[in-house]
Amino acid sequence: MKIAILPGDGIGTEIIAEALKVLAALDLRFELEQAAVGGVAYEAHGHPLPEATLKLAQQADAVLFGAVGDWKYDTLERSLRPEQAILGLRQHLQLFANLRPAICYEQLTQASSLKPELVAGLDILIIRELTGDVYFGQPRGRRAAPDGAFAGADEAFDTMRYSRPEIERIAHVAFQAARKRGKRLTSVDKANVLETFQFWKDVVTEVHAQYPDVALTHMYVDNAAMQLVKAPKAFDVIVTGNMFGDILSDEAAMLTGSIGMLPSASLNAAGKGLYEPSHGSAPDIAGKGVANPLATILSAAMMLRYSLDQAAAADRIEAAVKAVLAQGLRTADICSAGTKPVGTKEMGDAVVANLKRQG
Ligand code: NAD
Repeated sequence: MKIAILPGDGIGTEIIAEALKVLAALDLRFELEQAAVGGVAYEAHGHPLPEATLKLAQQADAVLFGAVGDWKYDTLERSLRPEQAILGLRQHLQLFANLRPAICYEQLTQASSLKPELVAGLDILIIRELTGDVYFGQPRGRRAAPDGAFAGADEAFDTMRYSRPEIERIAHVAFQAARKRGKRLTSVDKANVLETFQFWKDVVTEVHAQYPDVALTHMYVDNAAMQLVKAPKAFDVIVTGNMFGDILSDEAAMLTGSIGMLPSASLNAAGKGLYEPSHGSAPDIAGKGVANPLATILSAAMMLRYSLDQAAAADRIEAAVKAVLAQGLRTADICSAGTKPVGTKEMGDAVVANLKRQG
């Protein structure tokens, strides 16, 4: 099992180090190879996704990714900014399905911004299409407006588009995931305004014919944003496009208490995946040893389950994380007033200690 390790920028190196400790504590053999990505890769090689890093990611069975980005690169030409590395990896590896579970652990209900009764026991899965939509649609750019009330003025434009195969393949991933869970799927769109999302709704409805055991509902994105804070436990699996999924999955993240708890998987048709925490490189806390490593550790568990066929090892990691929380360990982001937070390393060590205790 070859894993490409791409720590990246900011807290990336700190949180990946803890995930590696956890992987090393399992009785499994991995070939781990590390490469530069993001701002550090730009500094060393002049590009956020150097050829060698891309090659390693393509050869590996799975990619474990930290985070990229720093404000100091904001003035760079867009193609050289650290965040382009993650977009490049998604495109080159054809990672079209982003799976983000939002689970509210019993011990963390107090850390949520919602009332505990609304989030206690929350367990939803957001599936975001990752390689299409307005984020990648061409043409895009700046020009003099060719028509309209402000013809001749400077304008910027992007293109929202989805093809039938793109919608079909993400719909299949979503129906299959729903089948393994509560058998309820909500497809989120904006069919009342956007042609692209009327088409999305039509195609998802057609694919549903192959999954009669799954209950499908459709919801407009503005309503979905509202329902996620009103009654989040009413959802089971949500499937949506790239931009709506970007926004809703961060909203769901906050329901769970901290973005520092949320893992993610981005998969291609062959089951190969890139695994990363849902958060960014957190430059504001980088180097301080206070970042929560649990999202990255839980991403490593998803990697074992979805790409490396090691579900038992994934279960062990998830159980160890729950045990650590039950013991009362908290990093600053999930700490309630009056309790003393532990640092990144102590949290990683505690997960390892719990794994070893399982025997
Ligand atoms: P962010 O997720 O890095 O941070 C948002 C807030 O959450 C910050 O206050 C941060 O301290 C906190 N936070 C994030 N992860 C945490 C953790 N593990 N433990 C404790 N607290 C944590 O988002 P941002 O500040 O908007 O972006 C920072 C940089 O990250 C930017 O350059 C952005 O482009 C980049 N980014 C990268 C990715 C990625 O690599 N996939 C994703 C999002 C943002």
